Amino acid sequence: MEFNLQNSINQQIFLPKEKEIELFLKREDRIHPFVSGNKYRKLKYNLIEAEKQGFETLLTFGGAFSNHIAAVASAGSGLGFKTIGIIRGEELEGKIGDNPTLKFAKQNGMHFKFVSRDAYRAKHSEVFQNELKEEFGDFYTIPEGGTNALAIKGCREILTDTDAQFDYVCCAVGTGGTISGLINCLKPGQQVLGFPALKDDFLQQDISKFAINNQWELITDYHFGGYAKINAELVAFINQFKAQNHVPLDPVYTGKMLFGIFDLIEKNYFPKGAKILAIHTGGLQGIDGMNQLLKKKNLPIIDK
Ligand SMILES: *Cc1c(COP(=O)(O)O)cnc(C)c1O
Repeated sequence: MEFNLQNSINQQIFLPKEKEIELFLKREDRIHPFVSGNKYRKLKYNLIEAEKQGFETLLTFGGAFSNHIAAVASAGSGLGFKTIGIIRGEELEGKIGDNPTLKFAKQNGMHFKFVSRDAYRAKHSEVFQNELKEEFGDFYTIPEGGTNALAIKGCREILTDTDAQFDYVCCAVGTGGTISGLINCLKPGQQVLGFPALKDDFLQQDISKFAINNQWELITDYHFGGYAKINAELVAFINQFKAQNHVPLDPVYTGKMLFGIFDLIEKNYFPKGAKILAIHTGGLQGIDGMNQLLKKKNLPIIDK
């Protein structure tokens, strides 16, 4: 299985000259088509650990369109692990073929267990964990979204020495693992701006548990109503960004982050001369699933 780390270059995104802002996009999406961006970073040390401990099976959790589920399935099949996905929503059980993410995961050998939303919420309870052990035997658990200490260790490797020239590092935030890794490898004077892709009152707290400095801030104005919620304005932005820069963005995370960065630049949030590095954390496999929903609602879709 090949991961193309040399593909993760910093690509300049052109802005109106009068803004006197430099924006670069780190193309982590190009590391691998399915174990892309931060999911590669988050899985790396977990998979090394799973192998070291002699596990043959990975078990993890996710929703219907989860980039993490797709990444674990793909990495598992490429590296010789069996994979089990605990999926939120019993109603999906008969509809695997209609869901591009689940279909892909299944083709990569993932075994599913579909659970109700209530059971899913209690996924870390002892009762549920014991049930899983009884059903599946020994497995290495990767938490929902893949965030744990080893994931954060992997995300510390996103920034390179030359990235010390940037004043701001921007990333999309889901569970907070990626931003924690970025925060923990900053140079003095640098700041991380996190753009949450969902409404979550505990994110600030969750990240504080891992962060070793205060050089970060969450910009909470660009979640578009919640996780995987989008509107025509966001779709239009993603399509325009792709047409201008030849870079695809995903609708759940990186599209919202870049929409936010462009809006902040427009509003002169950044001082003149600022150098910004935004992290393209990948997630492009989610476009097909989102387009399915958009088509059902007769809304404009994301260009491929
Ligand atoms: C999972 C994901 C994120 C969120 O990462 P966290 O570490 O959970 O905050 C951001 N961007 C993309 C594209 C993702 O797939």
